[in-house]
Amino acid sequence: MENVRLFVIPMAAALALSLVTPAASAIAAPVPSAKKVDCKKAKCVALTMDDGPVAGTAQVLDTLKKYDVPATFFVVGKNAAARPKLLARMVREGHEVGSHSWDHAQLTKLSRAAMLKNLKRADKAIRKGTGKRVKLLRPPYGSNDANVKSVEKSMGYRQVLWTVDPLDWKYRNTKTVVRNVLKATRRNSIILTHDIHATTRAAYPKIIKSLKKKGYTFVTVSQLLRTR
Ligand SMILES: [Zn+2]
Repeated sequence: MENVRLFVIPMAAALALSLVTPAASAIAAPVPSAKKVDCKKAKCVALTMDDGPVAGTAQVLDTLKKYDVPATFFVVGKNAAARPKLLARMVREGHEVGSHSWDHAQLTKLSRAAMLKNLKRADKAIRKGTGKRVKLLRPPYGSNDANVKSVEKSMGYRQVLWTVDPLDWKYRNTKTVVRNVLKATRRNSIILTHDIHATTRAAYPKIIKSLKKKGYTFVTVSQLLRTR
């Protein structure tokens, strides 16, 4: 399984590159090289963005491209269905896309059948945008119980929570968000943020520059979980 995945990703990247014209590929930023990072050696960190995509997510992708770092987006299915081109761009530019349910439902409040229906609907929308199987689920609010875990297992998902929470939904202040992230981030941290907030979107350049300066290497969540 690991070998298959390692083989498939470079092929997909090569295909994506082959689809742009030679002139465009010469000036395009390279696909972030997270796939090659070994987090046993590198000081890795995973930046994650929840609840989008929204129109402003394009700006986030521009920032990630500018600094050549990969991230992981936990998208809400109905937002993904509304903006499939942004999902395609995420994948094309080396990012990972996971599920955050269809409508940001608190999964522990749903019956098993309703939960399955909700997650399958999100899954379909995400696959349509990314062309890839969904592997990761971040349950909204981190809301979790045996029933959620059982459904995740039946869907073939791995649950991803977080280790750093700057409370950016609460502190709509860019400086506070940057400070909270920098204060709490350690090696192999999974940083929770929300790209739906303009204040958070404005924080990404500073977060990325500061963490790079401290020697961190940005990776996707799957990369982090695979090699840390
Ligand atoms: Zn959320």
